[in-house]
Amino acid sequence: MATAAGNPRVLLRRLRDIMAERTSAQERLDRIVTLIAGNMVAEVCSIYLVRAGGELELFATEGLNKSAVHKTRLKKGEGLVGDIAAHARPLNLSDAQSHPKFAYKPETGEEIYQSLMGVPILRDGLALGVIVVQNKTHRLYEEEEVEAAQTIAMVLAEMIASGDLISPNELEETGIRRDRPWRFRGAAIAEGVAIGEVILHAPRVKVERLIAEDPDVERARLDTAVKQLRSQIDTLVDHEDMELLGDTKEVMEAYRMFANDSGWLARLREAIGTGLTAEAAVERVQSETRARLMRATDPYLRERAHDLDDLANRLLRHLAGLTEDGLHANLPESAILVARAMGPADLLDYDRTRLKAVALEEGSPTSHVAIVARALGIPLIGRIDGLLDQADAGNLAVVDGERGEIHLRPTPEIVSAYSAKLTLIAQREQEFAQYKDAPAVTTDGRTITLLLNAGLAIDLPHLDETGAAGIGLFRTELPFMITQRLMGLSRQTELYARVLDEAKGRPVTFRTLDLGGDKQLPYMHFDPEENPALGWRAIRVSLDRPHLMRWQLRAMVAAAAGRELSVMFPMIAEVEEFVQARALLQKEVERAERFGHAMPTRVRAGTMLEVPSLGWSLTPLLDRVDFISLGTNDLMQFFFASDRGNPRLGERYDALSPAFLRFIKQVIDACNAASKPFTVCGEMAGRPLEALALIALGAVNLSMQPHAVGPVKMAIRTARVSQLRNFLLPRLDSPGHTLREDLRIFAEEQGIRLL
Ligand code: PEP
Ligand code: MG
Repeated sequence: MATAAGNPRVLLRRLRDIMAERTSAQERLDRIVTLIAGNMVAEVCSIYLVRAGGELELFATEGLNKSAVHKTRLKKGEGLVGDIAAHARPLNLSDAQSHPKFAYKPETGEEIYQSLMGVPILRDGLALGVIVVQNKTHRLYEEEEVEAAQTIAMVLAEMIASGDLISPNELEETGIRRDRPWRFRGAAIAEGVAIGEVILHAPRVKVERLIAEDPDVERARLDTAVKQLRSQIDTLVDHEDMELLGDTKEVMEAYRMFANDSGWLARLREAIGTGLTAEAAVERVQSETRARLMRATDPYLRERAHDLDDLANRLLRHLAGLTEDGLHANLPESAILVARAMGPADLLDYDRTRLKAVALEEGSPTSHVAIVARALGIPLIGRIDGLLDQADAGNLAVVDGERGEIHLRPTPEIVSAYSAKLTLIAQREQEFAQYKDAPAVTTDGRTITLLLNAGLAIDLPHLDETGAAGIGLFRTELPFMITQRLMGLSRQTELYARVLDEAKGRPVTFRTLDLGGDKQLPYMHFDPEENPALGWRAIRVSLDRPHLMRWQLRAMVAAAAGRELSVMFPMIAEVEEFVQARALLQKEVERAERFGHAMPTRVRAGTMLEVPSLGWSLTPLLDRVDFISLGTNDLMQFFFASDRGNPRLGERYDALSPAFLRFIKQVIDACNAASKPFTVCGEMAGRPLEALALIALGAVNLSMQPHAVGPVKMAIRTARVSQLRNFLLPRLDSPGHTLREDLRIFAEEQGIRLL
């Protein structure tokens, strides 16, 4: 059917001329059906569009009764046209009337037509309408004609999405335009609230030029871009820090497979053959593939639709000559970054003064990106199903990192409620800042030392910002988790020295590697375990494979030359483990002395107390440690046998239960009796009400996240220890689930500031 008139490229050129005319959208549509009918030597060409509610309406026709335009309607899936839309795939029938789906619409006069070819008008995998051609004779339309109709459909999709034919409101109902407010619930991973403009981590490249001047040029452009894409993916797959870049090896292997799929390339080249530019060809093939995959019942296949979207988008970026750097330029003043998943390195590429929050379809509290977001104080919510199907760049969004919610295109009421909340937070921060240098002293004169939990170099400026007295817990595994390979001796020494430098004489307690369990290194193999939290982790790994910890201790001893070194060990469950760990530290101290290295002024060794068994070994333990630090996060999960990462158990047991508080009191009393410093470094220490309870039990050192320092200090400065003690201690024998509510009411009555 490739007559001069039927040449698809001629058809496209004419189409381009029509699209450029300054006539109404309806007039253009009328001209298009006439053009197609003429080009394909068809008696009929009609265009149906999806209306609100999902019905297809005849919008333009050449050959059917014109009076049926805007009257004839087909239900979803009704007739051949409905079938094409419902399945988002073309039909090419030489005997349409014998097809079981054939539906007769008397007003159109179509019963005399035998053959029918129709293609869906697709955008983002959604059918917006159908183009159909019909002939009186029994004929099967050529593949080239089907292709040409699909190409025209793509141009029409843009015209429809612009809102000229169907109002934007109605498009919204069909799911084509996304204008409505939308609220998603996910997992709250890093706290905080933000209002800003959505930016997509890998934004869709907008295809401006659809119709090609010269197909050979387009094919050559496609070949070059595919080559670049393949080599980019090879580099990514083979790169050792690939996991850190946010893509798992498996996903990237699948990408490599798709990128090398000859069928995909053939479809792209075919699409160019119909007169499209390389970019438009990528978009068309992608839209069709997406439509197919989205209808698959297998969730694995639906998931692959996202991979293919990403791949197509990468190819479009190569065609547009965009570098990855270009992605990070021109951030809006307040940016809400939306992505399926991302790695910590990706996050660090964005301008931190403008990046206000992150929302991910994937992401877990222990993912590397979560660790970095928390360190940067950027709210992050994860596990938001369907987010990318709704979010468009430029949308206004509110992220609530406390409730784990994102509001896309929020109503003015939501925006004003959150603006008020942000103002309040800013006011409080200003207030805390005023008290930055004021001591954390209770009204009856008890001084509490507030310290920070840290783990990355980016945490260190928080020391000055919060006025904290030092670092009570430096989680050394975090830098290991976000770097590309195992850090060598000199890099570790540099890092620990930098931490001590920036602490400017304030005390720092380094904790040795707490690996295993949920803290995995991409470059180190851990066998899968049935109960990772109870498994081969932390000190157990360090004692079984001592070389890693010895290097770490060597680096710490070297870094602390001329100053004090405090080291503690994680997950100690019995005194003997501490004794062995301390012996390794001693060996490193002696080694440094033997080599004549500059030495720390003093070396202190302590233990985390996060395994309950240690609470019954306090007498022999306290003879051997310089200090104890209570890790309430792990302690809670072992104390109550309740997985700390299981959201279903999140509220089940309370840190303010009489049993847990009594256990802590017993540890504090023993430490005080032995004159050994005691610190709490679990999350409990950073919550004002819990901090008050700990102080009532006798704790004086609390180590917490930077944002907790202000609220905890306010509570302390308005509290009286003697009253707190008198209130709490007699209640430790109560049989209740928690003392939280009683304590809160008491604190309020006493005029204690709780936020
Ligand atoms: C704890 O368990 O309370 C603790 C501080 O350590 P982490 O949270 O790193 O396990
Ligand atoms: Mg722990």
